[in-house]
Amino acid sequence: MKLKREDVKYLIIHQTATLKDQTTFEKIKKLHLRQGMGNIAYHYFIEANGRVRKGRNETTAGTHTKASGMNLKSLGIGLAGNFNLEEPTNSQLESLEKTLRYLIKKYNIEIDNILGHREVWNSATECPGDSLNEWLVDFREKLKKEKNL
Ligand SMILES: [Zn+2]
Repeated sequence: MKLKREDVKYLIIHQTATLKDQTTFEKIKKLHLRQGMGNIAYHYFIEANGRVRKGRNETTAGTHTKASGMNLKSLGIGLAGNFNLEEPTNSQLESLEKTLRYLIKKYNIEIDNILGHREVWNSATECPGDSLNEWLVDFREKLKKEKNL
């Protein structure tokens, strides 16, 4: 499915729900291919050491968030880790912030449209885990302060 630039209104954050030090881009891509997704589910993937890997093309819809038809109006960013059990590394968070700021600017995304998977209406998931979702709540506050909202 194609994703047009003007369709991208949301950025959705995910966890792999596997321990970060045992999780690589290649492993997750292989898993998603086996599940018939045709590629890794996400547009960007951030490994434990903070390395940002390009997933699917931004002009192709992801397969990361079925709820609310979100795959057709968002880009997905996955982080290696289970953030109910562990914390993201500082390098991961730095890379996530950089990636989000780049995409927010590129697509003119509203701050309240940067969501953890669990925050999507009608989703039933723990994703992206407690510690990463807490970071995201704080990150949105920080962006709002910068914009004086
Ligand atoms: Zn998810």
